[in-house]
Amino acid sequence: MAATRKIIVGVDLGGTSLRAVVVDPNDQTLAEVKTATPAAARPDVVIRAIARTVDEALKAAGVRRGAVGAVSIGAPGSVDAKTGVVNRAPNLGWTEVPLSKKLKALLRLPVLVGNDVHVGAIGEYALGAGRGTEHMVGIFIGTGIGGAIIIRGQLYQGSRGGAGEWGHTVILADGPLCSCGHRGCAEALGSRTAMEREVRAAIKAGKKSVVLKIMKDRGRERMTSSVMARALRQGDQVMQQVLARAQYYLGLLVANAVNVVDPECVVIGGGIADRLGETFVAPIRRTAYQYFLRARDAERVKILPGSLGDNAGALGAVVLARQWLRKN
Ligand SMILES: [Zn+2]
Repeated sequence: MAATRKIIVGVDLGGTSLRAVVVDPNDQTLAEVKTATPAAARPDVVIRAIARTVDEALKAAGVRRGAVGAVSIGAPGSVDAKTGVVNRAPNLGWTEVPLSKKLKALLRLPVLVGNDVHVGAIGEYALGAGRGTEHMVGIFIGTGIGGAIIIRGQLYQGSRGGAGEWGHTVILADGPLCSCGHRGCAEALGSRTAMEREVRAAIKAGKKSVVLKIMKDRGRERMTSSVMARALRQGDQVMQQVLARAQYYLGLLVANAVNVVDPECVVIGGGIADRLGETFVAPIRRTAYQYFLRARDAERVKILPGSLGDNAGALGAVVLARQWLRKN
């Protein structure tokens, strides 16, 4: 168990921001550094920025590199956790980047890489809303919908690392076109992108809404979670209706997930859940309960918003590194 007594650096690599946390063996965060991900840069430039951010965080924590057991990264897109290669990450513009190997050469420390949503779900499982459960489903709703399945405390990766893609469960045959090319996926009905598309369509059809004005006032090109929250506070009916429709489909999605996995807990993560909390999750929960196959003890399956917010990824990366160190 000696290896698990080491300090871990967890990194959340996003398309816009990069975050590193230094965590001691007692789950205490010693330091946290957040910076912008170099925009439109070559992979090597981004990887050097990750190394610098890790070093800065260690310096802020007063920790030597020698005391670090591993650096663990949650990266967006399709990631091979076994080889540490990011196969495809559209929002970084990466294909086939050996992230683990390159960062290891710079830091001279073991480097682990996982998919950001998988890693975020592990964070919520071990340290957040899913704490104390054994089987958990994570559904992260943002511009897309990502997900994870955790069975007996372990991330279930599937045979090719592709398990947990709840966002591409077809909920409405012949529904709206999804980013994956199919129609009617949960992502095309319940993501923030889907909701923005519906709001814009309603406005175009002549309905009154404050959403576009709020976006303009706040200098936002997209309907962010904070734009949504403000529109709801102002009683915007288009926003309310679009949200309610998305929540209905997300409720169906959660029910499907529960009927397949039978978890003790479903954690709804991502920006909208962070921002709106119960306002977002309660209607999803109501619909989901109606579609549970096992109606008995339905309420024993908890459906909760994530509780770690932006830290889920970096903290989850730490948890995965601990699991890895225990095995190796
Ligand atoms: Zn899809």
